Order: sequence, then C-alpha cells, then structure tokens
Amino acid sequence: MTYQNYSLKQLQQIDAAHHLHPFTDHKDLREAGARVITHANGPFIYDSEGTELLDGMAGLWCVNIGYGRDELAEAAYAQMKELPYYNSFFKCSTPTPVLLSKKLAEIAPRNVNQVFYGSSGSEANDTALRLVRHYWVLEGKPEKNRVISRKMAYHGSTIAGTSLGGMDAMHKQLNGAVPNIVHVMMPYAYELALPGESDHDFGLRAAKSVEDAILEAGADKVAAFIGEPVMGAGGVKIPPASYWPEVQRICRKYDVLLMLDEVITGYGRTGEWFAAQTFGIEADTITTAKALTSGYQPLSALLVGDRIASTLVEKGGEFNHGYTYSGHPVACAVALKNLEIIEREGLVDRVRNDTGPYFARALQERIAGHDLVGEVRSIGLMGAIEIVRDKATKERFLPSGSAAVAVRDHAIANGMMLRATGDTMILSPPLIWTRDTIDMACERIGKALDLAQADLRKR
Ligand SMILES: *Cc1c(COP(=O)(O)O)cnc(C)c1O
Repeated sequence: MTYQNYSLKQLQQIDAAHHLHPFTDHKDLREAGARVITHANGPFIYDSEGTELLDGMAGLWCVNIGYGRDELAEAAYAQMKELPYYNSFFKCSTPTPVLLSKKLAEIAPRNVNQVFYGSSGSEANDTALRLVRHYWVLEGKPEKNRVISRKMAYHGSTIAGTSLGGMDAMHKQLNGAVPNIVHVMMPYAYELALPGESDHDFGLRAAKSVEDAILEAGADKVAAFIGEPVMGAGGVKIPPASYWPEVQRICRKYDVLLMLDEVITGYGRTGEWFAAQTFGIEADTITTAKALTSGYQPLSALLVGDRIASTLVEKGGEFNHGYTYSGHPVACAVALKNLEIIEREGLVDRVRNDTGPYFARALQERIAGHDLVGEVRSIGLMGAIEIVRDKATKERFLPSGSAAVAVRDHAIANGMMLRATGDTMILSPPLIWTRDTIDMACERIGKALDLAQADLRKR
C-alpha cells in the first residue's frame, strides 16, 4: 500500500467519491474533505500534513494502551502465521479464544464466567438481546420479553443496537424499531435534577423511573434492563452513587435481568477492570468491545453471568446464533497481549489511584472556572465539560451544539483532539496518560475555551 504516492487532495477526492463514512453528513464531508490520520505513537496521532494531535478520545474510546505498541503487532503477526483463522462452530475451538475466556473470567465480577465473542459492540448487544430473550423462553416465560433502556443511551448501530439505544436521531431513520423496548429517563443530574434536589435523591428518582416502567408493563412481561454504567456517547453522564445500587435492587425485586453495556467502561476506564466493580453491582450480561484489544483488532466479548449460562447449558439445546468471526484467533491473540500490558503496567490501579483523581482535580481547578463552563465531571479517565452561555442559569448557546463545536474546532487547531456531543465536550483519553499529559490537555482545552469565547462574543 503506497498511500504516500497520493497527495492529501487526491486522497480526499477518492474518499469522497467512494467511501461512505459512519455518522456523517456526506454532503458536508465532500465540501470539507476528510482529515486523514496517517500514523500515531503513544498518546499522539498525526495527520497527512504532519500535524500532531494529543488524542483526548483514545481513537473512539478504545486505544487504552496508546498507539505504537509493537507487542500487539507481533502477537497478531505470530498468530496469523500459525493460524490466521478457524471457526468456533461445530464443536471446534482455537487456542487464543480459549485462553482469553479464562482471562476474562478471572478479571470479571465473580458471578460472570462465560464469554460469547463477536467483532463489535453492536454485535455483542445483538447477542445479549437474543440471549436474554432466549433465556426467558427456556425458563418457560416467553412473555417476559420487554427490555427497558434509557433515553440518549448508545448501544451501537445495528438494528438491535439502535433499538436498544435511545438516540432520537437514530430512531427516526430506523423507521421501525425492534418491538418491546422502552426508554426511561437518564441519570443526568446537571439538566434533570429539580431545584434543591440532592444528587442522592435525584439518583433514586432516576432509578424509580425503571421501577415505574416495570410496573407499567407488568413484571411478568419485562426481561431485562440495559444501561451503560456511565453513558458515553450520550455525553459522559455519570450517575449519582445512589443510582446503580437502587436499579440493582429494583431488578432483583421484580426478577428482571440486568444488562450492562461496558463497551466504553470496560478494561480499566473507571479505575476498575469493569464499572460494575466501580459501582458495586452484579450484572447478568456485560457487553464489552473497544478497549478489549485497545482497538488494534475488532473484537467484542459478551460476558455472560452464571444465571443465564447455567440455564443455557442445562436447558438450552442449540443456541442458534453466532458469527463467522466469533472467537477470531488473531483478534483474541491481540486481546490477550493487550490485557497483559494493562496488567504489567498497572494501568487500572494507576487510573484509580493516581491519574483518575489528578484528572478530576485538574478539570475542577483549571477548567471549571471558565466563563463558558457550566460543569465539569469525571470518573476514572472519562470526563465531560458542559458548555453554557450563563453559568448560573445553565442557559445554552443557540443554535444548540454550536458553541461546543466552536470549542472543539479550536481545540483541534491547538493540537487537542476531543469530541463535542450536543453542548457537552467529552474526553476519554488513553490510560497511559500521565500527570504531564493531563496538564498538557488542560492547557490546550483552556486555550480553546478562550478562543471560542472570543468568537462567541463577536456573534
Ligand atoms: C461504541 C459503543 C457500542 C457499539 O460498538 P461498535 O463496536 O461501534 O459496534 C455499543 N455500546 C456502547 C456503550 C458504545 O460506546
């Protein structure tokens, strides 16, 4: 592959002519031309023009061990030479998914000991939905097939993922979702807490919306509740500490399964291997992908709790579901090496004890005071910055989202890659960030806020 023989302009033209991008307004893209990222190292990415950017999003929430890890390339190379592919159907297996499953069972919460593989978070959520509905059929309760989710949830972009998710813009284009999925309020205190309501009380009220939905449908009709422990794409919405234990209590009370989507929070992001451990809850399924391989290979692992697994084994017969690439040997080899590196370098502990708390303090002390900032929040190494016109009233700039885009554009122009979703800036850096990297990020974000503020004043 000799892309170096092409100019940026040529690559952009070919891209526009032939490549439909995810979540993209294609007319816009054609006019602007794509930014072409050509290489990366450690916490930095580089575009075709040689511009260096500090990657505040770890690719797309996934490159937890940073870029340029030869060991992962070597693990993939060795596995490809030995056995590039074989399937796991028909009572066959290959060594790397076997060993990866053992490793995942070791680091997962105690009640979780089985793994089902796919190639993406969306696929894993499809599997989770099928498995949960199948579970209730096996238990003789086929009418228990509804799933409760939340507004603004993101569970991927297949038809099941979109249906489980709570993104209006996606549902509109779906024009007919998977039936029997309902969406309740999200635990987003910044916008949804009532005047004077404590975080604790708000968390309980948000959890109560789950109970209300169960009662409305009838508990004998509800299969499961699904949620991201911390809503990611919806704007890094961190629930109050009261929320998850209460949701757990409600699910148990009505015999409703708990499905956690840890595609972002899995593998260290919140300072534990899984956010289920951070929030002290037990789930029946845990969807993981992204950082499982640090994005070096496409791979998802649906972690399946003992309750579902034992029914599947004992009453199951054949579960008529699976993917050609379930347990792909190369992807699993890369995942094993990735987890080994996370362990060897103590990245999970580092997030919990050092960089996570430092990141929280840095955002509070250096970003929260800015005129444009209504709130900062973080957990482990994921964070959000709310952009407002008025700190006291939380009034936003119009049109909605425009101010955050201005901040993002200035950030990128100043060497900092971060994302804007609605009026919220989001950060989810590689877990290799040090205190120095956090300082660098805050400096660049502060500058972007200043420049955006100057622009907004002119409008
Ligand atoms: C990214 C994401 C998904 C979808 O994963 P894909 O690999 O893009 O299919 C699902 N759930 C959550 C929480 C995600 O962040």
